[in-house]
Amino acid sequence: MADSKKEPQINSALNRKLEPNTERTWDPWKEHGEGGEKASPPLKHEPKVQGVVGSGPNRSTPKRWDPWSHDLPPGVKPPVNYPAQGHTRPNAPAPATAPQPEGIQVSAAPRLARRMSRLGTETAFDVLARVRKLEAEGKSIVSFALGEPDFDTPAHVREAAKRALDEGHTHYGPSAGIQPLRKSIAGYISRSRKISVQPEQVVVGPGAKPILFDAMMALVDEGDEVIYPNPGYPIYESLADFVGARGVPLPLLESKAFRFDLGTLEKLITPKTKLLVVNTPANPTGGVLTPEDLAGVAELARKHNFWVIADEIYSEILYIKDYASILQHPGMAERTVLIDGFSKTFAMTGWRLGYGVMPPELAVQVARIETNVNSCTCTFAQIAAIEALDGPWDEAHRFRAEFQARRDAIVDGLNAIKGIKCLRPEGAFYAFPNVTEACRNLGLKDSREFQDRALIEAGVAVLARTCFGRKNAGEDQEYIRLSYATSLQNIQEGLKRLKAFCEK
Ligand code: PLP
Repeated sequence: MADSKKEPQINSALNRKLEPNTERTWDPWKEHGEGGEKASPPLKHEPKVQGVVGSGPNRSTPKRWDPWSHDLPPGVKPPVNYPAQGHTRPNAPAPATAPQPEGIQVSAAPRLARRMSRLGTETAFDVLARVRKLEAEGKSIVSFALGEPDFDTPAHVREAAKRALDEGHTHYGPSAGIQPLRKSIAGYISRSRKISVQPEQVVVGPGAKPILFDAMMALVDEGDEVIYPNPGYPIYESLADFVGARGVPLPLLESKAFRFDLGTLEKLITPKTKLLVVNTPANPTGGVLTPEDLAGVAELARKHNFWVIADEIYSEILYIKDYASILQHPGMAERTVLIDGFSKTFAMTGWRLGYGVMPPELAVQVARIETNVNSCTCTFAQIAAIEALDGPWDEAHRFRAEFQARRDAIVDGLNAIKGIKCLRPEGAFYAFPNVTEACRNLGLKDSREFQDRALIEAGVAVLARTCFGRKNAGEDQEYIRLSYATSLQNIQEGLKRLKAFCEK
């Protein structure tokens, strides 16, 4: 590393010498594309089934086995003594007669580590559990709660995974990811962000979330300050607290289309600022940072010498022409961890596949955390991920076009409801309307009460603003998030119910 004044420091605990990846044979460990060797992916991946635009049912289509259910999928043989259906309804209280392990007194259990009191969560999952419970009781709920595409993964990607399984690619691989995938990702990021990225800068993980965690662990010491967007993806705040940092919320403003004010950001920076998180397009607001915002952030990061985590997981779900990434700015490659993944772009949430792009020396450290936690990311899923990036993109483009049509439907519908005002987001699949007036009209205290009453009285699941961080000082407006990753039919029905609820 060069001059420590110029280069932000990796967490001191990780500043130890590190072993390189091993050199076993293919197998997933084989290093491809290095030392002049021609890169060759593990499969002759001529997809047998090409991505067919419009193919595959949406998950909004009813009657698909639900991974949140406690029942077995149809056709799966139940194990001996598997409880009868109905006993395992989601969130059903444990039967009073449930046997207790002999000799174990709960009150005598050892205490949890103190750090657990600092770990947050995604409260969205609590709302989801309530939705499942109401549905299990026979209530009809239109859910705008879930932040995941309702489409199936493109067929050619699924085929690639099946072939990889059949060809026996079911073994451990390198912690940083299989080299052909790291190469594909480097190529994709180089093309899409118009920069030059090398495979050594890429670490693949089981989702983007683990890479966020790893980066925070590797970069932030106790007592450091971490600035994160608010309202924002709640995991940023949770991880900052967990590693013992002081989380500093950066307000996103409705008056700026849910971007932040650069002057405010500058005022939040102190000598303890170690890391800034930016998320564009953003969850929960759908806001997109402008090239000028990012140029301003880059200037501040260089001047004050801090790291930037740029969460760009929604970069392909964008409704404006040009995508700007902080990595495009001079001096940012050595202080940025770009986060992206397959969950949103390719409807692959359940596959658990994400990645980070970072300086090579940090990549080694992040991979070392992966060695400790996950060993590696599922090998056959990684092989399918190569197909996702390097195969046809028709399906991914279709997803985006459908999201755009849904965005327009939901925004127009929300703006036609008394007391609701909604900006037209430029990216992601979330609407983030202002419901202050609706709360006032209905006599509701805040967005949390709106969320609860809309669920019970209207059968519509939305998430309150407070699922995305505590309110900023002086914030006096109320917001809710609606994920429009659901069918147009559901959107129309949900809007009808919300209108009736708000205008009764
Ligand atoms: N970053 C943001 C902003 C998200 O909204 C999400 C998922 O909702 C993630 C990261 C995590 O994605 P993954 O499924 O790849 O872990």
